[in-house]
Amino acid sequence: AAQTANDAQTPAEVPQARDLFSKFDPLIAEREALMATGVRDPFAIVMDEVKSPTLAVIKGKDTILLGTYNYMGMTFDPDVIAAGKQALDDFGAGTTGSRVLNGTYQGHKQVEAALREFYGMDHAMVFSTGYQANLGIISTLAGKGDYIVLDADSHASIYDGCFLGNAEIVRFRHNSVEDLDKRLGRLPADAQKLVVLEGVYSMLGDIAPLPDMVAAIRKHANCMILVDEAHGMGFFGPNGRGVYEEQGVEADVDFVVGTFSKSVGTVGGFCVSNHPKFDVMRLVCRPYVFTASLPPSVVATAATSIRKLMHAQDKRAHLWENSRRLHGALKALGFTLGTDTPQSAIISVILTDQTQAVAMWQALLELGLYVNMARPPATPTGTFLLRCSLCAEHSSDQVTQIIAMFKAAGKATGAIA
Ligand code: PMP
Repeated sequence: AAQTANDAQTPAEVPQARDLFSKFDPLIAEREALMATGVRDPFAIVMDEVKSPTLAVIKGKDTILLGTYNYMGMTFDPDVIAAGKQALDDFGAGTTGSRVLNGTYQGHKQVEAALREFYGMDHAMVFSTGYQANLGIISTLAGKGDYIVLDADSHASIYDGCFLGNAEIVRFRHNSVEDLDKRLGRLPADAQKLVVLEGVYSMLGDIAPLPDMVAAIRKHANCMILVDEAHGMGFFGPNGRGVYEEQGVEADVDFVVGTFSKSVGTVGGFCVSNHPKFDVMRLVCRPYVFTASLPPSVVATAATSIRKLMHAQDKRAHLWENSRRLHGALKALGFTLGTDTPQSAIISVILTDQTQAVAMWQALLELGLYVNMARPPATPTGTFLLRCSLCAEHSSDQVTQIIAMFKAAGKATGAIA
């Protein structure tokens, strides 16, 4: 009998119909075929050492980082690091509890105060990640009988927030004001609607035409607006609040969702709002209640970073300079880019297929440059792309080196003539 039980556990003997993994077979086969060509796995990079926001050691080689979300380079800011070390000494390694039980320390209140000041809003609620902020806010705000209207290219966390709740989901064509207007027009006027937009769309690096979208939304009754500024915080607008600040629609936005994992340089997520009843969220939002709060060192680093980002005009200016320069140079070299003009700190290089994208990615890595390789379903309409994101701490000399590496790798792989 023991022999039979053992036999039943060997993978080959498990009947196909009972194997929950068989749905992944096409993906496993695709990856095995790609790896068999001898390329390095773009999804298994290890940073052996991180020397600065823009430089790491990968397999013994000094590598310029052009594929992080470290837009403002705050990860190694001396004040940020000192605040984290102090909190670790004073409050320990973790809270071991939910925000609504034992997991709210003075540091959590302080980072929420920093966010209220940064955004000039009445309420701020901090989550353990930005993913959870979208999951929680979207699923809790829009309930049964309500509608969520979202851009088709929305981030996975926005989609997952929709799926966690009970509202009806309506998608409109990416950045299409006309389609947004049309779809809102088909919904019952008396139904409550949550329109979810992003300031910067992270795959192509394009920004939303928020004033036109707000004007279209205002033609319809009972709409609230949420903008995800994950990639806009720190960089856009006079106070670094995001694209919605830069485009002057602050008065029309009901909720801003953001993250500490990009410009802030640590981990965590948040939502800010002026809605007088916003704080009830702390009692009813499951991804806030049923998870442990952020460690004290993390909230201390976040609060320090956010306060410094309020006065980071010089960094913002240098990041724009880097972004415009790299965009112009890559376009001049003949690469196909995600946007015709530089719109954000993200510059996406679109390749013809997976083979070319991986070849180019690997050629860059061998020259000493790391970029993100992105593929469907993360990317829109089946594209394979190399996503470059600049940092305010990239020196002009590093940008010069980056351009030279793209030229060499592009020619070696045939991506450019
Ligand atoms: N929203 C958008 C638009 C994002 O790109 C991301 C992360 N890539 C998130 C939310 C989630 O942020 P976090 O890393 O804090 O979970």
